[in-house]
Amino acid sequence: MPVQCVRCQSEGRVSSNFVRDGFFYRTSDSTKVQRFRCALCRARFSRATSHSCFRQKKRQKNELLRRLLCSGVSLRRSAIILRLTRVTVSRKLFFLSRMAKIQLHARHSRLPLAQVVEFDDLETFEHSIAKPLSVTLAVESGSRRILAIAVSSMPLRPSRAHLYPRRPDQRSLGRKSLLKELMSLTSPKNLVIKSDSNPHYTNDIGQHFPYAIHKRFLGKRGALTGQGELKKLRFDPLFSLNHTCAMLRANINRLFRKTWCTTKRKDRLLAHLLIYANYHNQNLTQPL
Ligand SMILES: [Zn+2]
Repeated sequence: MPVQCVRCQSEGRVSSNFVRDGFFYRTSDSTKVQRFRCALCRARFSRATSHSCFRQKKRQKNELLRRLLCSGVSLRRSAIILRLTRVTVSRKLFFLSRMAKIQLHARHSRLPLAQVVEFDDLETFEHSIAKPLSVTLAVESGSRRILAIAVSSMPLRPSRAHLYPRRPDQRSLGRKSLLKELMSLTSPKNLVIKSDSNPHYTNDIGQHFPYAIHKRFLGKRGALTGQGELKKLRFDPLFSLNHTCAMLRANINRLFRKTWCTTKRKDRLLAHLLIYANYHNQNLTQPL
């Protein structure tokens, strides 16, 4: 197996550029790890130095934590179940989201480009109801594969706006970055984009996808009290998207309706969503 020096980046087999230099035993996953010395720059390193889990002491808990976070368990409860501190779980949230982003891209590149995309916003908040957030989501129709996610802050509804300080509306920025990301994941020919009748979507979709067919549908009432996503319709034209939003609400603790557990920071909501999106595409859906 070829080795790469962490300092001078030279690559090669052990006999040519590198000398074996003992090993160490990693207790967290009971592994013997080989150390090397570079013959060119004399740097000493091991197979663990360039690993994505470098310096993690609880790497064996990563996969279980990932599954718990995608199955409606909160960060604090995960810490209790896995016997970790809250700080470790919080750090692992960012680590898992970085890994999820890489895996999401790798999976998208293996699958064919999406032909029909459904697109909408989901509302939640950070810290308090006075600070609403918008989660913009693009889903492949039929397979329910999550293609892109963006989180942006939004102002309060007019009926409450006078009670709290003004809040910037970043939904347009979030939507544009999502559409930009979507350009590399969708078919350039015969693309169909479905959305509700939000008037802001038309311009943005027209700018980024001038040759796509944009189908707009009227928003409908939720099927159950307090459940806005699954619609009370015999045929829902945005079923893949609404079903995925309902799954986000069912599987991400901070998005549950009527919950104690709320988002405190926007970047952590995005990190949690990315981890879920990767799990959803890998384990909960089938490619078309
Ligand atoms: Zn070197």
